[in-house]
Amino acid sequence: MAQIIDGKKISAAVRGEIAKETKQFVDEHGFAPGLTVIIVGEDPASQVYVRNKKRACEEVGFASRVIEMHEQTTEEELLSVIDGLVKDDMVHGILVQLPLPKHISEEAVLRAIPPHKDVDAFHAENVGKIMIGNFEFLPCTPAGVMELLKYEGVDPAGKECVVVGRSNIVGKPMAMLLLHANGTVTICHSRTRNLAEVTRRADILVVAVGRANFITADMVKPGAVVIDVGMNRNAEGKLCGDVDFAAVESVASMITPVPGGVGPMTITMLLKNTLTAAKSFAARKK
Ligand code: NDP
Repeated sequence: MAQIIDGKKISAAVRGEIAKETKQFVDEHGFAPGLTVIIVGEDPASQVYVRNKKRACEEVGFASRVIEMHEQTTEEELLSVIDGLVKDDMVHGILVQLPLPKHISEEAVLRAIPPHKDVDAFHAENVGKIMIGNFEFLPCTPAGVMELLKYEGVDPAGKECVVVGRSNIVGKPMAMLLLHANGTVTICHSRTRNLAEVTRRADILVVAVGRANFITADMVKPGAVVIDVGMNRNAEGKLCGDVDFAAVESVASMITPVPGGVGPMTITMLLKNTLTAAKSFAARKK
């Protein structure tokens, strides 16, 4: 039976460290790290994510704010709000919750958040830095996965690492971080031939596809470390990942559950990025 990687426990430990560092930061500088999250429209899933982010910020002692804008907000209006936040010295991180309504260009919005306040690490400059390996912010979900591996003592160096999914938010940066950690990395996607053959080579298998029960036991090498990024609803409306957990658990050596695996780490990494942004701001002001 695989060891379950407890994302909640690891996340709580990392958040404890962040809270301690935040207290020191406030004592030294007289202000708290500030994160502002903008949400446009009423997507229920986005509202839950934003609420969780705000609560997590408050728990570690950040100054957090949520700006709610209505569905019909124009791109110009949104860009103008972002511009105000860019100029506000007490806002160190700006996050626009995605997806945005169709009439607003996601690219234009992400470009409007300057790299030093881009705590999601979606700006092209931050993406480029991740490629080079000289980064300040890491995209939250892949960074969370790396933190889980580190905490469990799993070193990707020299290992076969297979990432299923190639999105800009998860798959691609995930592959880059594993590569920086000296893994031998393969990225799979919907056009990959013989997917099971490739996934069965993995010592570390990271799955970010968005389909319940997509990875079955026969696709996993015995003893592999399996990280499930997926967040789906099954037929009963229950949250589940991309991996057939019940079956794969008996093949893998370690596995993340959904919920309670990668999910909690994503917000934790957002907190870490915001603290980093506040520290950089304080250093620039000296
Ligand atoms: P995207 O839909 O952007 O990407 C999905 C990827 O899966 C694509 O690269 C796609 O390939 C690939 N894919 C689809 N079908 C197949 C297939 N049959 N075989 C192989 N690959 C396939 O999703 P995201 O990366 O944004 O998210 C993935 C999952 O992770 C979702 O469930 C999402 O909810 C979850 N998620 C969880 C987070 C967390 O905090 N835990 C954070 C972010 C996402 P192609 O490019 O060829 O289309």
